[in-house]
Amino acid sequence: MSKKIASIRGMNDILPTDTPLWQWFENKVATLLQRYSYSEIRTPIVEQTDLFRRSIGEVTDIVEKEMYTFEDRNGDSLTLRPEGTASCVRAAEQHGLLYNQIQRLWYKGPMFRHERPQAGRYRQFHQIGVEAFGMATPDIDAELILLSRRLWQELGLEQQVVLQLNTLGSLEDRAKYRAALVEFLNQHRDDLDEDSQRRIERNPLRVLDSKNPQTQEILGDAPELVDYLSEESAAHFNQLKALLDAAGLSYEVNPRLVRGLDYYSHTVFEWVTDALGAQGTVCAGGRYDGLVEQLGGRATPAVGFAMGMERLILLLEQQTLAINNAPHVYVVADDPQASILLAEQLRTDNPQLRVLTHCGGGSFKSQLRRADRSGAQVALIIGAEEAASNSVTVKPLREHNEQTTVPQTQVAAELAKYLA
Ligand code: ATP
Ligand code: MG
Repeated sequence: MSKKIASIRGMNDILPTDTPLWQWFENKVATLLQRYSYSEIRTPIVEQTDLFRRSIGEVTDIVEKEMYTFEDRNGDSLTLRPEGTASCVRAAEQHGLLYNQIQRLWYKGPMFRHERPQAGRYRQFHQIGVEAFGMATPDIDAELILLSRRLWQELGLEQQVVLQLNTLGSLEDRAKYRAALVEFLNQHRDDLDEDSQRRIERNPLRVLDSKNPQTQEILGDAPELVDYLSEESAAHFNQLKALLDAAGLSYEVNPRLVRGLDYYSHTVFEWVTDALGAQGTVCAGGRYDGLVEQLGGRATPAVGFAMGMERLILLLEQQTLAINNAPHVYVVADDPQASILLAEQLRTDNPQLRVLTHCGGGSFKSQLRRADRSGAQVALIIGAEEAASNSVTVKPLREHNEQTTVPQTQVAAELAKYLA
């Protein structure tokens, strides 16, 4: 036998036993986004490497060490997308969707990052992202956050997640703060972890995000960005908080929340859970007013978020959800023509009905065993007698009722008794 080939580490198959939950979740999100008037956009999973370098930032975990970058046959540097915002901006700009327009967009799909695989952290994972362009005021920040809250409610997860909120101010606010922070970090340089030392000059805000406990302890005394906000930036943040308060949404202001990507300004937020161990952030986002211009477009305010689908699925798996995609009926017959035609007729008569036709031959006994294993409520049987009299035997598989034989024309009515 030849050697079997397995999937790539950190890239998972989603098997038929798991896809019903994924589909249920995806349908909930798609329906909700439609209720908020967001439109879906689909972009390629491969882009020019520069797109991510220029948007995410050179001194970030993603660009420094996580991207799947390769040369294609023409010698161009391409990258499997590590996130969706950059592609979304690229596509919207390329097709003129941002010119003097307001856009509410969303996307869904696989993302790729070369990280150490563990529960809730994979090399191919999936995100659903939501982006709103052309609105500078905090009402849209609030809309996005309220949309995400409604999603948790619809998924039955609202008890599991809390909202952490912060503001990064404007570019100018951050420049002032940066100077103060760098001074502080330099005073403690020798006690910081290596990554943080390296980031002092190039991207000091990211030090706040360090997962190193000793670094975190030192940061307890670090200057805080709130003290460097302009009046305008403070007003944006205060208005957002007031809107969330008015909508009865509680949140925690976390001054250390900076997010791992360079393009954020003003609002940043994360929905976090303590039910998933270290991988606690299920949804993260914020405002990125500078990004469109940074990628060559006209200055366009923007705000968005992305949720990690695997982490949300892990949370959903902890709930007891009754998702039943089993067939309603299983069609059994001696003669394949009889079963195929009956099944086709049932699908024509009732588009809601899930019909599984026995194929592949076998005795009645083995066909009925499969009918039982399929999870179907009812088996429909056409044996020699039924075929001769144009009738069908309806055999309940989950209730202790007797089976009955009815004319083919009455099958639908008989089925209705079992399929409320
Ligand atoms: P983390 O701090 O956990 O690495 P991040 O800041 O890199 O997260 P984002 O780029 O903000 O993550 O992505 C948004 C969401 O996508 C995350 O909150 C998380 O739910 C999910 N996510 C990110 N990276 C992964 C991964 N490697 N595997 C699974 N989900 C991920
Ligand atoms: Mg990360």
